[in-house]
Amino acid sequence: MIVEMRTGASRKEVDVVVQKAKSLDLGVQLNIGTDKTVVALLGSNTGQIPTDIFAVLPGVESVTRIMKPYKLASREFERKDTVVDCGGVKIGGQRVVIIAGPCAVESEKQLRQAAEGVKKAGATILRGGAFKPRTSPFSFQGLQKKGLELLAAVKKDVDIPVVTEVVNPQDVALVSSYADMLQIGSRNMQNFALLTDAGKSGRPVVLKRGFSCTITEWLTAADYLLAEGEKQVVLCERGIRTFEDSVRFSLDISAVPVIKRNSHLPVIVDPSHAAGHYSLVPAMARAAVAAGADGLLIEVHPNPKEALVDGLQSLSPSDFSRLMEELRTIAKSVGRYI
Ligand code: PEP
Ligand code: MN
Repeated sequence: MIVEMRTGASRKEVDVVVQKAKSLDLGVQLNIGTDKTVVALLGSNTGQIPTDIFAVLPGVESVTRIMKPYKLASREFERKDTVVDCGGVKIGGQRVVIIAGPCAVESEKQLRQAAEGVKKAGATILRGGAFKPRTSPFSFQGLQKKGLELLAAVKKDVDIPVVTEVVNPQDVALVSSYADMLQIGSRNMQNFALLTDAGKSGRPVVLKRGFSCTITEWLTAADYLLAEGEKQVVLCERGIRTFEDSVRFSLDISAVPVIKRNSHLPVIVDPSHAAGHYSLVPAMARAAVAAGADGLLIEVHPNPKEALVDGLQSLSPSDFSRLMEELRTIAKSVGRYI
């Protein structure tokens, strides 16, 4: 249930609403805007509580039931678009933010070359995996702590913020001490312990869509982060599993306008994991920008043929640079820039 306070409602009036909610054993999240305060009432029993109990209180403008299972990620809770700050780069504004880098951090030389290449082409955030969630336990799991150290060194030398994945709740503090933004991967979208800890980290989080999850489940997972007080959440569409087997995953472009309609959170698109093949990445990246994505996450490797992970879907720096030129034209035609 969402209680919208009148413009200029006093703090005392807001407190009365909060006290009432607490007396009914409801959780409360306050959204104090410049002109308006919105109070989200959380709990499994809100359906049984009459809205009038709140509507009659002084200073209350309206009370809306949210039938959707997600609340804090909803447009009803926050009408204004959220803008996320990743090391000074704003995601969710006019600029389409390009995040690029290798799937896995492999060596200092590989990461440095990737970082320099993507920055030169116009990417503003570097991504590289230090901890890799692999389908098989026998696959390369990433350089882990050593990978984080390399990310920190390259971030400083190349002067670019970094995002990297965290796969375990117990690694959240460690990864947060190196990264400007945490990534939660597709396989962990519903790892609720991980979401809860990442939500307390104080770092922005990019939450990838589970490849078998609906948009509603994805937004409800985002609520786990937001419920911890984390406001800086970016959603990332990366393809879903369908009957189609000519691509690695089917890129759900419709997720972009659906998220824009139903949520205030920025949404970016990862065409690389959906495509599974470098030759398909540019078209899917262009489609995402045309559809209104706030950013892209693209795998780029200085030498894709030698990559330890996801080489087939990685672009070379020169292919990436060519794609960036095309994306600039598309961004301009939809009133954005890169
Ligand atoms: C990745 O970003 O390298 C990755 C493993 O992606 P996903 O979680 O979307 O599969
Ligand atoms: Mn990858």
